[in-house]
Amino acid sequence: MLIATSWDDGLVSDRPLLDILEKHSVRASFAISPDRHQAIEVLNDERDKKYGWLVPESDLRFYQEHEVCNHTANHVESGTVSDVAMFMELHQGKIMLEDIYCRGVEGLIWPYGVCSPASISLAKTTRHTYGRLTHLPKAQPINSFNLSPVVHWKAYTVGELIDSGMPGVVLCGHTYELTDPNDWVWLDRFYREAAEDDRCQLVTLGEYAEGMRDVGEGEVQLQYDWCGYHS
Ligand SMILES: [Zn+2]
Repeated sequence: MLIATSWDDGLVSDRPLLDILEKHSVRASFAISPDRHQAIEVLNDERDKKYGWLVPESDLRFYQEHEVCNHTANHVESGTVSDVAMFMELHQGKIMLEDIYCRGVEGLIWPYGVCSPASISLAKTTRHTYGRLTHLPKAQPINSFNLSPVVHWKAYTVGELIDSGMPGVVLCGHTYELTDPNDWVWLDRFYREAAEDDRCQLVTLGEYAEGMRDVGEGEVQLQYDWCGYHS
């Protein structure tokens, strides 16, 4: 089973997470809206810690060892601006990240987890090859007919994910949500168990998108619905 973990927004509270990932020698995917980090003083004031404080631009280098995905230049939600404006957001976010990390950035994490056929088309035009949405199944059993491969990081243990029989799962969250010290203990244990268990493999979203190409037709369709698109 492939397990991709993805964390949004590039937050000051990501630092202990980066330490955990380093400790277990695993990689995760991070959604960054690069333009926002140039003006964090104003933005952080507005955010008032509710959605976590953004790291300054100089700290974006701490994600270098991980997969960095475009989160649009300014965290713009699909459907709220014109196609031209969205094109610029996708394009600018991508090239800014490619500049910062000196490598290609093909992954997209949709702000607020939403996209549309029109925005997917724009994402393809701007040379993105995969994207991640957000879907929280809430009280649904994970292996029900309506199972979603995108679940919240707090929802299941590694063993429960593996027992679901799914070919892969994407976990998403923000570190500002880890408000209880026990959350960090849980997260450390999650990464340790996943790193040690031969039945699963911790991957980036890009590796996940690639791995899902080999999964059976019906399951692939479900993965595509929730986890992005393939050209
Ligand atoms: Zn976000």
